Amino acid sequence: MSDVLLEIENLHVTFASPHGPIRAVDGLSLRAERGATLGVVGESGSGKSVTFLAAMRLLDPATATVSGRIRLDGVDLLTLPSREMQTVRGPRIGMIFQDPLAALHPLLRVGDQISETLRAHGDISRRDASDRAVAALRRVGIPSPDERARQYPHELSGGMRQRVMIAMALVLEPELLIADEPTTALDTTVEAQILALIDDLRTRIGLGVVLISHSLATVSQVADTVAVMYAGRAIERGPCSDVFGQPQHPYTWGLLDSLPAVDGGHESLTPIPGAPPSLADLPPGCRFGPRCGYRMPACGERVPDLVERHAGHADACILPMDGREGLRRAPIAHPANSEPAP
Ligand code: SF4
Repeated sequence: MSDVLLEIENLHVTFASPHGPIRAVDGLSLRAERGATLGVVGESGSGKSVTFLAAMRLLDPATATVSGRIRLDGVDLLTLPSREMQTVRGPRIGMIFQDPLAALHPLLRVGDQISETLRAHGDISRRDASDRAVAALRRVGIPSPDERARQYPHELSGGMRQRVMIAMALVLEPELLIADEPTTALDTTVEAQILALIDDLRTRIGLGVVLISHSLATVSQVADTVAVMYAGRAIERGPCSDVFGQPQHPYTWGLLDSLPAVDGGHESLTPIPGAPPSLADLPPGCRFGPRCGYRMPACGERVPDLVERHAGHADACILPMDGREGLRRAPIAHPANSEPAP
């Protein structure tokens, strides 16, 4: 059996809007493997969440046009009949949504919500579903799970609610877990616990994991491979150790340079100037061009392809490979801080 569990190939997602088509995802290709974690990072609006909502077929076809291929174990999810897709969502792919308080039903006890998931997907008695819900809560480290199962979402802490979401996503024992910003709004200690929990489940039950986050620091803790997204495209992709150890794309350099140093130095951070482009009005050529301190005239001519330079490590930048690291160490004359873009 192939190690590739989910394969996204040349995915395009376009939303209709009064301002014209919004190209939220534009030619994205990614792979998630069994027993491994794929980290997907990028700023808000880079297309991270939309990509995986498309994989779950949760986008409204009245407003979103999706094309390309999204294969789970070789089967294209985009062409599956809706009824068959219901046997994929939950039983084969579990998803943790961004905001547990919004995702959980406020008027149902958490144990009942997990039981309902089981009963919707199988012939199981109310009593057995209830027992499995409690077992699912216990598996994600919730203390006194019998008692917690009888509580409503608002009675639980943020960390507990997030664990409930993980329990619900995993109760049908899927092969793939998509975790969309699973630790946003949690304090650092609880974030570490949640990440460790997901990683433990990955190793114990061979789960494939997609971790979507705006935080490089979060992804670097647990991902095996990482894709950096910008304006609907992957601009760098590869093994986590390579992307963080030897980043190749100026956007990734900018993201890393804007992180605080772990040694506690007091040097000021270097933010990436400017803001991501409007997806309804993209710049010509490289989409990072208006914010890039290394931009050349050729950068505006066409969108750079994602090209593999070293084994498994690809980037979408036309800078010559020789001396890229030297460039990164040079002071960056960000165009947004100096002259206007040509
Ligand atoms: Fe910068 Fe040009 Fe590379 Fe884009 S292609 S990241 S504008 S150097």
